[in-house]
Amino acid sequence: MEHIDVLVAGSGFGGSVAAYRLAEAGFGVVVMERGRAWKPGSFPRSPAQMSRAFWDPAEGLHGLFDVWSFGDCDSVVSSGLGGGSLIYANVLLRKEEKWFVRESPLPGGGYEHWPVTRDMLDPHYDAVERMLGATPYPLDQDAYRDTAKTRAMQDAAAELGLDWQLPPLAVSFAPKAGARPGIGLPIVDPDYGSLHGVPRRTCRLCGECDIGCNDGAKNSLDHTYLAAARHHGADLRTLHEVRTITPRPGGGYEVGYVRHDPLTEPETISCDRLVLAAGTYGTTYLLLRNRAALPGLSETLGTRFSGNGDIISFLLRAQDRPIAASRGPVITSSIRLPDGAYIQEGGFPSFVDWIAEASDVGEEFRRAVWFVWERLRGLITRDHNLSAELSRLMGAGELSDRSLPILGMGRDVPDGVLRLRGDRLVLDWNAETSREYYAELRAIIRRIGDVLGAEYSDAPLRRVLTAHPLGGAPMGRHPGEGVCDSRGEVFGFPGLYVADGAAMPGPVGPNPSLTIAAVADRMADRITRGKNARMAHETIRTALSFTEEMGGSLNGGDRVTFQLTITTDDIDRFLAEPEHLARAEGWIDAAICGGRRPIERGWFNLFAPGESPDHREMRYRLHFRDGENQPRTLVGLKHVRHGPPTRLWLDTSTLHTTLLEGHLDEGDEGRILATGTLRILPSDLGRMLTTFRTSGPGGAAALARFGAFFLGELWDVYGPGQERPQGS
Ligand SMILES: Cc1cc2nc3c(=O)[nH]c(=O)nc-3n(C[C@H](O)[C@H](O)[C@H](O)COP(=O)(O)OP(=O)(O)OC[C@H]3O[C@@H](n4cnc5c(N)ncnc54)[C@H](O)[C@@H]3O)c2cc1C
Ligand code: SF4
Repeated sequence: MEHIDVLVAGSGFGGSVAAYRLAEAGFGVVVMERGRAWKPGSFPRSPAQMSRAFWDPAEGLHGLFDVWSFGDCDSVVSSGLGGGSLIYANVLLRKEEKWFVRESPLPGGGYEHWPVTRDMLDPHYDAVERMLGATPYPLDQDAYRDTAKTRAMQDAAAELGLDWQLPPLAVSFAPKAGARPGIGLPIVDPDYGSLHGVPRRTCRLCGECDIGCNDGAKNSLDHTYLAAARHHGADLRTLHEVRTITPRPGGGYEVGYVRHDPLTEPETISCDRLVLAAGTYGTTYLLLRNRAALPGLSETLGTRFSGNGDIISFLLRAQDRPIAASRGPVITSSIRLPDGAYIQEGGFPSFVDWIAEASDVGEEFRRAVWFVWERLRGLITRDHNLSAELSRLMGAGELSDRSLPILGMGRDVPDGVLRLRGDRLVLDWNAETSREYYAELRAIIRRIGDVLGAEYSDAPLRRVLTAHPLGGAPMGRHPGEGVCDSRGEVFGFPGLYVADGAAMPGPVGPNPSLTIAAVADRMADRITRGKNARMAHETIRTALSFTEEMGGSLNGGDRVTFQLTITTDDIDRFLAEPEHLARAEGWIDAAICGGRRPIERGWFNLFAPGESPDHREMRYRLHFRDGENQPRTLVGLKHVRHGPPTRLWLDTSTLHTTLLEGHLDEGDEGRILATGTLRILPSDLGRMLTTFRTSGPGGAAALARFGAFFLGELWDVYGPGQERPQGS
């Protein structure tokens, strides 16, 4: 059977970021994407092509749009190399700090809790924005200045005192970063090359972003992350659909998959790590379908579904001005409301103008759009043929020039539940608990319409239509709260990760793809951290280790001991880096933890900088599972502070300890289960000194450097003056 380091299932925002980061770090990566690759120029446009542009392999359709229709909610996602980026509207907005809510109660019980903060994600937001070439619509430049729909939104917001902005868009308006924008100019390929090998041109303002950019002006994931992943050796396999997941004895996973077009018999591949990035519906479905093979998956699987507060409305026949919604990228501007909601102008391809005009003869514009939507839904159930409908609907007139789709999104209530009925994914959710939110958002959109002298219209049915489905495998602090931890690792299944919209524990608020990508980038950090340590070990080979034992009590009585082997794979790097980070392996023994438990992962910092120049910290962070297989973290801290040398022994031998629920990283908060103090006895210290080992070249010198560093740090803290002893 084929075996690889990492298998990534799905190539949307989560999957592409993971594939690139892990391939770049040297892992052998295979990406399996069920859809096909879409190069510029290949996206469907004619009615005949559009009628086959859907994903339904059972019906022989392997197209771009995957339309879901649940009881009270319709939804559209994408199928293809690059996932949602192929049909999205390019908006990259960060989630606001205050909406990373903590235990925020939900109407029907339970709460929404984000185990990450804006601070934690900011460096990852930066990285994703850089890679996707995020830049605002260049409204200040001559060729773009007269974009009517953007100006209409700007003026309406100014009149209503609303906060308007040009959000970052992942679109190439200029041939390369820093160059002057221009329409239809050749784009310079990035250093990592082009995935499709066809030329790309800068944005020509055609409004077709949501049906695939035939110019290659969108910086979609195939042109960016996936091209870079392939450059670093990732193997991108299209028309490969992951179906089954089975843990392997001794670690890793066996994954069953099929190939489409034509459909093959199921095949199997094994991997050390499996990253699920099949999107909210795809990943939740995979986990639900494979639940029996993954015993102990969190009970929260399927929960926390939300539509990110999506609504779509229409402003019709603006009296004051033409709007020309089909000129410009689909979204160019955004209004931010104080309660975490956003309003953005939409756009549509110019052929939708024809439909709108034809339907204006005795019909409402909204009816036309919903008519088309119903036809698309009908197509999935095979009762209609879009080609004939489109040809019949073509016409000419004025309505489309003065009308504007308006998109609203924000913080609805994430109380939807995805589950299986037979083999089918079903959703229990309706807009009832979010009624107030929708009403307020609609009221503001109406006011924008009033300013533009336009009629307001929205969905004739009381259904939610979302392009931003989220949740189903939410992250949390422990299995009672989520399926995976804040870095995407599934509780109870080391090496199995969720890296897509399914991991969101609630609505993102603004358009979610940037947050999904940033969370995946943070997940990749955890995986590459281990890899970097291994690579250092393999190449430099001057390692040092020692073993220590400590004992004490938790909660004032429960006896606890641990034995840890502290290893640094590269002594020079360990000494040079300010955090002085090493690996901790071994066991912890305590009744409250179910007896002696192996450490799954551990970190140790020796003399990390403290609050002042004469303060150091010795930090321990140990991940393990208790007797009931629940993830636990033991955090320990020794304060080494300036004072009389007589305090030296007390400070360096006293470990203040906290036992926490979940596997928590630095900066994560968790429920405290116990606190206590552990000490090292003088006799244990003597034993520890006999355990120092080195491997690799220059072992004796490495030991001497370590000793000098140790004494030097103590001297800095407790010594009477600033000078270090010789040799340190
Ligand atoms: C019309 C439209 C406009 C949008 N505009 C914006 C916007 O402007 N800004 C924004 O932030 N967001 C926007 N979105 C939302 C955005 O596209 C999604 O939030 C985002 O793509 C979700 O990323 P993901 O990684 O969770 O999954 P996806 O991007 O959906 O990727 C999942 C991938 O997994 C594949 N897959 C599924 N099952 C399997 C399987 N079993 N095996 C292998 N592969 C599988 C799918 O084919 C797909 O390619 C828009 C969405 C739509 C539909
Ligand atoms: S407006 Fe047209 S050219 Fe510009 S990004 Fe969208 S689809 Fe591409």
